[in-house]
Amino acid sequence: MKNLIYKDTRNYSPIDVTKGVDLLTGKIVMADNVAPENYELRPKCKFCQNYKEENEFNGECEASMSDPKFFAYGDMDSVTCGMYKQIN
Ligand code: SF4
Repeated sequence: MKNLIYKDTRNYSPIDVTKGVDLLTGKIVMADNVAPENYELRPKCKFCQNYKEENEFNGECEASMSDPKFFAYGDMDSVTCGMYKQIN
């Protein structure tokens, strides 16, 4: 996947909502700046096949067994979700 922004990679650790540390260079970077091409995608709901987007920031999880299906944020970290299926 190309053109990932820092906050969508595993190679970034946030300091606050706008900036964080590039874990490969140790430099402070802006969260929304484009990361180098080889940086690894961080699993998030917005990158999951089960995520049904409702607007720019949120949607619902189609893998949910609840009725109605549970609410999900696109930026929600999915590292520990056992139902995560990465989009291509
Ligand atoms: S399966 Fe997990 S990662 Fe995928 S949308 Fe649902 S909660 Fe998010």
